[in-house]
Amino acid sequence: MLPSQLIKSLEGIKGFDSKAFEAVHVSGEQVTSIRLNPAKQSLIEREHRLTVDGRPSTQIPWCDHGYYLSERPSFTFDPLFHAGAYYVQEASSMFLWEVLKQTVGQSTQKTVLDLCAAPGGKSTLLASYFTDGLIVSNEVIKSRAAILTENMIKWGADNVVVTNNDPKDFQRLENYFDVIVVDAPCSGSGLFRKDPNAINEWSEENVKLCSLRQQRIVADVLPALKQNGILIYSTCSYSKQEDEDVLDRIVEELQVSSCRLQVNPDWNIVEVESDKHQAQGYRFYPDKIKGEGFFIAAFKKINGDEETYQQEQNLFFPSKQELVQLQSFISLPENYIVFKQNDALRTIKEIWLTSLKNLAKHLYIKKAGVELGIIKGKDFIPSHELAVSLLPLENLAAIELQKEDALQYLKRKDFVADAPKGWALVKHCGLPLGWIKVLPNRINNYYPQEWRILKD
Ligand code: SAM
Repeated sequence: MLPSQLIKSLEGIKGFDSKAFEAVHVSGEQVTSIRLNPAKQSLIEREHRLTVDGRPSTQIPWCDHGYYLSERPSFTFDPLFHAGAYYVQEASSMFLWEVLKQTVGQSTQKTVLDLCAAPGGKSTLLASYFTDGLIVSNEVIKSRAAILTENMIKWGADNVVVTNNDPKDFQRLENYFDVIVVDAPCSGSGLFRKDPNAINEWSEENVKLCSLRQQRIVADVLPALKQNGILIYSTCSYSKQEDEDVLDRIVEELQVSSCRLQVNPDWNIVEVESDKHQAQGYRFYPDKIKGEGFFIAAFKKINGDEETYQQEQNLFFPSKQELVQLQSFISLPENYIVFKQNDALRTIKEIWLTSLKNLAKHLYIKKAGVELGIIKGKDFIPSHELAVSLLPLENLAAIELQKEDALQYLKRKDFVADAPKGWALVKHCGLPLGWIKVLPNRINNYYPQEWRILKD
């Protein structure tokens, strides 16, 4: 049963049709959608591409790599899911792709902040969109930053820095980002169909609290946006207080102008305007589109300066000897630089080195670029991050496993493999899953203990 106060509060909002809305919530219909990882699709053997667990799919019209699945497979038992070949994401929220196309356009060498990023749906999309950009993927809650890091590692992109900071901390990076995405914490009514338990947690009081928190978050982070930079604000709430009313506060308090999008009428997305300042927003109702409840709006910052930020933190770099040891294992493309974080060797494109030093000055960095491995005496121990990254690994020893053995590997259980001695990548359908080390009388499984499949 949907909260009656919610229904009452939505009466009169453009596009809201209480009968159709209530009917779709009792229909039991579930929509499953995934977004493919375009960089990993190119690594997967041709015959396995564009299907998930062999099931057919149809494209989501507003996202180049988004697909609806005809049924919900067990993602846990699909090795390609663990290899970061796709992300299971709600279809409406993939509209971010279309917003970027219309507001940022083709130029993808941008510095982008995803402020409320866990578990990583929007960040993985941003990493795929801004192939030449740098994505700072931030999550304030520590435990959630861990799952965000895991998902970003699996996505494999080397242009991502994961941070664990409060929105206010970004004020120290004044006029820094070209794009900021605030996918704000909200009262969650948009997900009622997917998660009926959330209905019991909904209250008018919480909507009010969320609205105040959303305004505070945007105000806190806006100094970090450059002049002409794009702010994208979204929620999965239907409540006007968290959607249109927040847009009004953004226009009132911050110097931004609303961006109007051209939306294909066949998509049934409802364009709305805020009461006071006529800022445009886009509403997704599950009775009108194939997806869950969602709201999104974009703004351009009209004051502020070009990037002025200069402060840098020194990074540590490996010794010549350590580099030689690394190079005996893998040779990186020329435009990548290797640096050290604690004992680990990491790499990032050289063009992002200064940015990384700027970010390191003020933020708590959980992951930057790709962890390559550590040096232990004479040995180089490759990291799991390297195995699932997009760095070129074609020259390394590898074994291909069929599905059942691949799942055994992902459970860290025994499997049969015929591999030469030493380190080897384990692949499924041509896509790396992780490392093994083949010893004379056994195979050591290096799949991360904490990520192994526990279910049988
Ligand atoms: N963008 C994510 C995605 O697409 O997977 C979903 C983000 S979720 C809607 C909102 C996130 O904001 C949560 O991860 C939550 O932990 C975080 N959050 C909660 N309170 C916050 C605050 N005061 N400031 C910033 N983020 C907050």
